[in-house]
Amino acid sequence: MNYLEQFRAAKINSKLLEKLQQEFTVVKGKIKIMEVCGTHTQAISKIGLRELLPSNVELLTGPGCPICVTPFSYIDTAISLAQQEGVMVATFADFLKVPGSNSTLELEQAQGPNVKTVYSPLDAVKIAENNPEQEVVFLAVGFETTAPVIALSILDAQKKNLTNYSLLQALKTMPPVMEELVLNQYLDIDGFLCPGHVASIIGVEPFQFLAKEYDLPAVVAGFEVGDILFALEQIMEMIVRQEAKVVNAYPRVVEQKGNPKALKIMEQVFTSTVSRWRGLGKITNSGLELRPEYQEFAAENKFDFASATGKVAKQSGCSCGEVLMGIKKPTDCELFGTKCTPSHPLGPCMVSQEGSCAAYLYKVSVKM
Ligand code: SF4
Repeated sequence: MNYLEQFRAAKINSKLLEKLQQEFTVVKGKIKIMEVCGTHTQAISKIGLRELLPSNVELLTGPGCPICVTPFSYIDTAISLAQQEGVMVATFADFLKVPGSNSTLELEQAQGPNVKTVYSPLDAVKIAENNPEQEVVFLAVGFETTAPVIALSILDAQKKNLTNYSLLQALKTMPPVMEELVLNQYLDIDGFLCPGHVASIIGVEPFQFLAKEYDLPAVVAGFEVGDILFALEQIMEMIVRQEAKVVNAYPRVVEQKGNPKALKIMEQVFTSTVSRWRGLGKITNSGLELRPEYQEFAAENKFDFASATGKVAKQSGCSCGEVLMGIKKPTDCELFGTKCTPSHPLGPCMVSQEGSCAAYLYKVSVKM
């Protein structure tokens, strides 16, 4: 059995599940554990784990899908940029289908060459280098996982003396939004499954406040079945013993202090700022913005956004905001799987595979 196969082995995982189920039954009353990361939501849905746990246990989905937490106003601004003469918007493919107030980037792409899908912001820098007459704006969306390579693209553009490359900024950071959720009186969270991808960059330390300040158990987890079961089992053990610690259960990828090179480059290019989250509003220090010395690469300083940023529309009937906060389940939305599907998403949570609604729908279709 190779290294990764151990985390997928049915025999080992059944034992872990059995142990977990036993531990849950020891605790009377409702237990709420939030999985913050969209990839965890996707993995949990794929294995149908929610249905395998006792009825007093709820796994809440959190705000860890980057495109889901990006507000309408940002999407409208990106679309308005793509409609401007001489501007090309470069983005990851996931973002194309996200509905804005009146259009999507996919619809804009169908009408002309002003939207380009890239695999990396470094590709967007290359496009800017090869097309000096064109302004190239990269949609800087995501968490600590994508921030380092976006920072690298700025250093690359600066080294090449490019004046036609910029970022439309909406980068976000995970620990501040987790604190916001802890403070939310409606949620009453008992423990956190911490995001393994984010932790691979920032390490375990930034999650310590959960245990130290709020007495909450938290476990940094990987994404295989065995990783998730083991992490939940660790959380349950702490709940039963009334302990609160932050445990790294993903040591094959996550170092205690994170990735120093990635952190250094992020620190060099970005600084913390307030950020607006879909459903949660503005959260202090939960975003990243270019430092003053790199402000020439901020699209906000190059273009007039007045026409797009003024209107913050809400898709009629879409409950993405509440889903992202763990207040509603995707299945509580009356549009789920009927009017709103992955081929016709009405909200961002149905667009990406990591979106809670898309992940839940996958589970429903597999069951059927
Ligand atoms: Fe929004 Fe669609 Fe999810 Fe409903 S099912 S919350 S409309 S994304």
